[in-house]
Amino acid sequence: MNSQWKLVPVEPTETMVINGFESVPDECFTDEEVWEQYQEMSGCQQAAFRAKLCWAAMLDSSPAPDTLTAEPEESAGVDFGIDGRSVRVSQEAYSIFLAREAAAREKIEALQLRLNAADQRIDELTVPAGYCLMPTRLTAENGAKALLLGEFKLEVTSECPECRDQEEPSEGCEICDGEGEYGQQHMIPWDQIKFIYSEAVKGLAKKPNTPQ
Ligand SMILES: [Zn+2]
Repeated sequence: MNSQWKLVPVEPTETMVINGFESVPDECFTDEEVWEQYQEMSGCQQAAFRAKLCWAAMLDSSPAPDTLTAEPEESAGVDFGIDGRSVRVSQEAYSIFLAREAAAREKIEALQLRLNAADQRIDELTVPAGYCLMPTRLTAENGAKALLLGEFKLEVTSECPECRDQEEPSEGCEICDGEGEYGQQHMIPWDQIKFIYSEAVKGLAKKPNTPQ
């Protein structure tokens, strides 16, 4: 490109526009000699003169081509560094890389969440010294009923109803055999066993995440 030609933007910058309209000859600002010449011109000549001044002012204030051309080159490719090497890849390739990287990061974050949940679960399952893992309730399903029902009995001694009103218990009484009282075994009911157990769980169970 020689000095007869100049690379300028298709759209004038704001600076170019301002310089363009400020180039109009003015009695106060224009060189006195030029102003006199301008005054002597015909209307058409003045219009042509103004057009030339405007053109020159806008060309003078146009930005350097470097700053104009740098941007298109930039968008044509991206310098992409990896493992100490730098390669120039197309914008499209770089976009694909960025999208994949974002997807990979999402997967890693999801895995991390699962790991955290698993860690928490392990913490909850860790049994402190003096404790063991037990069901929260006694049920037939977990085998508790078969194991415990009928195992606990209460010995109750009662006065013989037959001999109660007599001075001496009858020898050979079918109920007390002359003892005046008789023993009776009461089975602890299943509901009672379950209730005692549930009360123990309520009061003694370690709460998850409770500091030990
Ligand atoms: Zn009796």
